[in-house]
Order: sequence, then structure tokens, then C-alpha cells
Amino acid sequence: MHVEDELIDFLDERESTLEAIAAQPRRILIVDDDDDVHQATVFALQGLEILNHPLEFLHARSAAEAEAILRRESNIAVVLLDVVMESEDAGLRLVKRIRDDLALTTPRIILRTGQPGYAPELSAIRDYDINDYKTKNELTRTRLFTSITTAIRSYDQICRLDASRRGLELIVAASGQLVAENGLQAFAAGIITQIAALLGVGAEGVVCAQEVVSDAEPDCNAPVEIVVVAAAGRFAGLVQRRLDEIDAPNVRDCLNRCLAQKANLIEDKAVVLFFPAKSGNHFAAYIDSSILLSEIDQHLLQVFCSNISVCAENTRLLGRLHDQAYLDRLVKLPTRTAFIEAIDQHIRSRATLGYTVGVVDIDQFAEINETFGHAYGDALLRALAQRLHDHLGETCRLARIAGDTFGILGLSWAVHPDRLRPMFAEPLEIDDEVRHKLSVTIGFANLADVKSGNDAVKNASLAVKLARTNGPGHDATYTPEIGQETRERTHLLHSLYNAFEQERLFVAFQPQVDLRSGHPTGFEALLRWRNEKGEFIPPDRFIPLAEQSGLINGLGLWVMRSSLRTLSRLMAAGWTSLRMAINVSVVQFQSSDFVAHVADAIREAGVPPQQVELEITESVAMNNAVEVEARLRELKALGVTIAIDDFGTGFSSLSYLDRLAIDRLKIDRSFIHGLCANGEDSSRIVEMVITLGEKLGMTLIAEGIETDEQKNRLLDLGCHEAQGFLYARAMPADELGQWLHDHA
Ligand code: C2E
Ligand code: MG
Ligand code: MG
Repeated sequence: MHVEDELIDFLDERESTLEAIAAQPRRILIVDDDDDVHQATVFALQGLEILNHPLEFLHARSAAEAEAILRRESNIAVVLLDVVMESEDAGLRLVKRIRDDLALTTPRIILRTGQPGYAPELSAIRDYDINDYKTKNELTRTRLFTSITTAIRSYDQICRLDASRRGLELIVAASGQLVAENGLQAFAAGIITQIAALLGVGAEGVVCAQEVVSDAEPDCNAPVEIVVVAAAGRFAGLVQRRLDEIDAPNVRDCLNRCLAQKANLIEDKAVVLFFPAKSGNHFAAYIDSSILLSEIDQHLLQVFCSNISVCAENTRLLGRLHDQAYLDRLVKLPTRTAFIEAIDQHIRSRATLGYTVGVVDIDQFAEINETFGHAYGDALLRALAQRLHDHLGETCRLARIAGDTFGILGLSWAVHPDRLRPMFAEPLEIDDEVRHKLSVTIGFANLADVKSGNDAVKNASLAVKLARTNGPGHDATYTPEIGQETRERTHLLHSLYNAFEQERLFVAFQPQVDLRSGHPTGFEALLRWRNEKGEFIPPDRFIPLAEQSGLINGLGLWVMRSSLRTLSRLMAAGWTSLRMAINVSVVQFQSSDFVAHVADAIREAGVPPQQVELEITESVAMNNAVEVEARLRELKALGVTIAIDDFGTGFSSLSYLDRLAIDRLKIDRSFIHGLCANGEDSSRIVEMVITLGEKLGMTLIAEGIETDEQKNRLLDLGCHEAQGFLYARAMPADELGQWLHDHA
């Protein structure tokens, strides 16, 4: 930071500059029960200047009187102290009181005694910081002068060190918290203390002010006001406040005049320096001293003033950032950060039992935004915030914790579905016109289950996810079991990432055959994961995870490319008319570059697209009709064929199915399983599916055939193709050649 660099420079300069600082009297307290000694001392030192300072004398006739003076007066530089007064050691006792009880460390002490026999112990000289010890007759004029000069020099040094130390303490304490306005005040005060010490004036002897254009109306005609940018001592609290508030008319008046005249002022007892600023926000510094400042000091003050005002600007900026971090501007509710801090605060200070955090998530907010526009989305959020505020503002803490998500902290009976649900029964009024019936999903987390606000919000958000699995508009409450399950899934996902990276995933191929002849027609590519312990993790467990995390896009593409390479090798080996069926997840299917990826993979492997089949599940096919239709058309245009996987488990609309131009239906294995076990029911469904498929011009393949019985029944029903353990399980790529050889 600039200010600190400048500060270091100025600390270097200080010694030389100090010499130029002139006369402030140095006060000397003479303590002696003998009037003659008082007179003789004053006489000896009268009219002398020591280190450019005139001297000023104070007199005490007893230790008690001296103590009273020391309590009352400040800035006593030297105490000339008689050892023997009321008692034989009254002087030594006073030394002890000065250092220990009055805690005065700066005054230098010179002990004097009539008789050498009363010399203090050496230890006393050291422990009580006594500067000098002389018998009275040793103190001739010259000796006294030398002795006092030494004492004053050391006094000055101690004072400067003291001021630096105090200033630095303030700076160190302040720099850590400059964000807050009072941090800036302490910082400015710290530096001013330093500068004042440098200039040889009291802490209140330097006040810096700046003209600023009032924040409210930042145009050129806005009124200018003058604020204090740096001050110390009793003025320290006025930093960043208006100059008018300073209760020192002279300081106020001088600074005002200086800024009005845009020129330095030299007053009887003060110097006021004008520092023009490029921005037009000029500075002025008031110095409580009649001595003109050196160039160096003037420059120092100028640099300081402008830097401290930059600091102030930053502080204001940070203040605004702080507000932004804590207050959501759109809905005027606290932010996630503020909410989490509030919960943390609650956990620290109060009972957690009986308190709940709720997370309210708007269903399909992205779609609402897309359909009705962002302005509408914003209005909806505001309306919801208002609704929450109207119902819960008094009793709960509210926040907007994400785009379309709100947080509620309150007593468990209040943050409860029975209480919250009715709030959403009435539609929201959007901009006084539209009424919007909102669907929200709500997750709850008990505060007693967590150690931090962050965990509470995480748990409740997790409950939202869980609630969503039951569809929009549901609620769920976090339980430790849910947490456990989530951790396991996270762990599994992590391992899956690793497995993908470390190539511990591979594709196995399950043959598909012509039902009548038993001849191979193709293969279905099935992803396999063998973990580090050699165990197989079933795809039904890890595919959904990969879908949720987005990993499926990369993974799916990899499956496609390696399957097509396998197909290409089979073709090269002479198996030219086989089909390769590849499972496509809904996430992949919806991703915008999916079609391009399929085209690339086919081109890369150099296989005929007609021999590439994509399996999409029935539920995907029936999802969002318009888009699916368009996407399928693009895929068909590439030349690939499409099979509907797990057919019979979804709810296909027949006319729709007709429009989609599907090549093949894969009858779900659950129906094949039921074929002979519970007889007629399954048979009838399979029969219906087969009839339907034929009517629509599709081929039918049955998956999961395990027995001859099932095979024969399917033959009777007119099914065309088959896949199942009866024929073969999925096998690694390098076994395919042999298998084909044995079965073709
Ligand atoms: P699916 O596409 O319906 O795959 C057929 C599943 O049935 C395979 O299970 C296969 O091993 C199993 N199966 C085959 N014949 C029989 C049989 O006679 N009896 C029984 N009981 N099961 C049989 P798998 O390999 O566990 O795959 C499960 C699901 O995982 C697949 O169902 C598919 O939805 C998904 N999946 C597998 N690989 C991928 C992939 O690469 N990408 C995507 N998106 N999903 C995949
Ligand atoms: Mg499949
Ligand atoms: Mg299937």
C-alpha cells in the first residue's frame, strides 16, 4: 500500500528533519527543600537554550508537592531531585512513586545530594531509570548544563520513540480492518500521530481536510463539502465526517479559509497548507505550529493526504461491496453469505433444538424465465420474496440463497410444510396484473443436526434434491441417512472419475441374434466398470451418477467411439453386415452437440452409419415431443437407426411413436421374464407390442431371454430378434471374433 511506503520513507527522514523543529520549551522540575538550591539552579540555567529549546522551570519544596505537580502537569522533561528532604530517603521514595505508581517513564531524573554518603544503591539507579547522580557541589553551571542537555536529549528520544510506537500500534491494528470505516479512522490517526511527532506538535496539532462533492448528487453543480480525512487525539473520531463537526473554531476556520483561497496560510500560531488535487478535490492540512515546514515535510503531508483519501474511497467501495455481499438487491433480502452467517450466529448463541432451516426452490424456474422473459422472472422472484416476507418476516429469518432459491430459519413448527404450503396456494401477483400459480419444492434441515450454517443450508438443499426425485412440488426433510447415502454417492462418483481417467472402464458386447435362425445380427455395447478391488459395479448404479454429474457426456462419447472402432475391426475381419447398438442417455441426447459427436465418431471409425444403432429409452422418446422429434430427424439424416429401449415400461402415445420414425422396439426384459412364469398377462402385453410394432413398420427385438421356453413363445408371437443370456452374456471385444466364428 502506498501510504505504508510513504510512511517508511518518512520514518527515515525524521531524524534530520527533527533537528529543524524548533522551540518548544523543555520543562524542568526542581525538587529541593532548600530555597537557595532553587534559585541557584534557575540562575545557572537562565536564558540558556538546550538543543534549541528554551527551558521552563517548575518548583517543588517536598516530595509530596513534587508528586502533586507530576500528577497535574504533563511534558516534564527533567526532574532535578534532592535525595534528602522530609526524610533521609524522600527523594528515592519519590523516584519509586514516579516510575511505579504514576507510571511515568519519560521524565529523566537527576538525583542531587548534599553529602556523598546518601548516594543511592546502584540497583536503584538501574531499576528506577535514574539518569544521573551528582553531589550538589559537583553541579557547577557547566556541569549542570551538560547533565541537563544529556537528559533532555534522551527525553526527546524517548518521546519520539513513544509516539512512533503508539502510531505504529494504531497502524498495525488498523491495517487489518481497513474495510471498516473505523479501521480507516484508526489508520489515519496512526499516521497523523507519527506526523505530529515528526513535526513536534501534539497529536491534535495536525488535521487534514478535503473538499468532496456530495455523494448524493455526483454532477458538476453538486454542493461541495469539506470532510476531515485525517486527525488524531480527540479529533480522531471525526475522520470521514464533516469539518463543521470539529469543536475547534480556529482549526475549522483556518481549513475553510485555506481551501476557499486555494493558498497556504501563515497564522500566528498555525500553518495551513493547501494541496491542489487533479481531481479538483483539494486538500488542506492544518499544523498547530508557527514554524514553516520544510519542503520534505510539505511533500510528505501532501502525499499522505491524497493517499488517505484514496483509502477512504476504497473503504466506501468496499462498504458497497460488503452490502452487495450481504443484501440481495433484486428482492431486498439477505444473501446466502448473510444467511449462513446468521445461522452460525444462531448456533453460537442459542439453542439449536427446535429450530429448522428451510430451502424453498422454485420448480422449473429456468423454463419460466425462458418462456416469459427475464423481467418476468425477476418480478416473480420479487413477488415470492414479498409473500415470504408477509407471512414469515416477523418470526423467521429470510434470505435469497441462490437464483431461484430462498432460505428460511425459524422455529420448527413455523418452518414446516403445514405452515409453508398454504402460503403457495394463492397465486402470486406479478406486477399487479398477472397471477402466477407457483410450484415450489421445499427441503428442511434440523438445526440440531449441524455444526455450521453452511451445513444447515447444504442439508436442506440436499433434501430439496431428494424431494425433487418425487417430482416437483414435494417436500423432504434431511436425515443423517440421507447424508450418508449422499456421501456414498459422492464417493462413488469420485471413484468413477478416477476409473475413467485410469481407463478401468471398458465396453463389453452382448450379441443380438435372429430369433428364427439364431444367426448373429449385431451387438449391444454395454459399459463395464471393474473397481480397484476387481469388483464389477453395475451400470444401473453408476450411469445415473454419471448423468447427474455431466460425466455421461464424455463417458458416452468414449463408449460410442470404442464400440465403433470394435465394429470397424469386425468388419475388417470379414463380419461386414453386423449392427452395433449403443445406449444413449437422456443427458447426452439433449446436449446440443450430440448429433455432431455421433457424426464425428462414425466418420472417425469409417463404418457405414446404417450399421450404427442408437438405443434411447422409451421415457426419453416421450419427453418433450417437439425437440425429440427434431433431434431424431437429424440423427436419422446421418443414416443411423434408432431403437426404443425398455419398451413397454413408459407411456408411449401411439400416434406420436408413429411420427418418430423408429426402426426397432426392444421389448423390456421384465415382460420376457413374465412370459412363462405367470402366463397369459405378460404374453398379452408382448403380443400387443409385437402387433403394434409390425403395424408401424418396426422390427422387434426381445431382450433378456434366458430360457428356450421364452424363446419359443416369442417365436410363436412373431418376434424378430433376440438378446439374452440364453445366447450369450456380454463379452470383451477380443472374444467377439471367436464367438462369431462359433455361432455364425
Ligand atoms: P439395457 O440397455 O436395457 O441393457 C440390457 C441389460 O440387460 C444389460 O444390463 C444386460 O447385461 C442385461 N441382460 C442381457 N441379457 C440378459 C438376460 O438374459 N437376463 C438378464 N437378467 N439380464 C440381461 P447391464 O449391462 O447391467 O446394463 C444395465 C443398463 O445400463 C442398460 O440397460 C443401459 O440402460 C445402461 N447402460 C449400460 N451401458 C451403457 C452405456 O454405455 N451408456 C448408457 N447411457 N447406458 C448404459
Ligand atoms: Mg440398451
Ligand atoms: Mg433394455
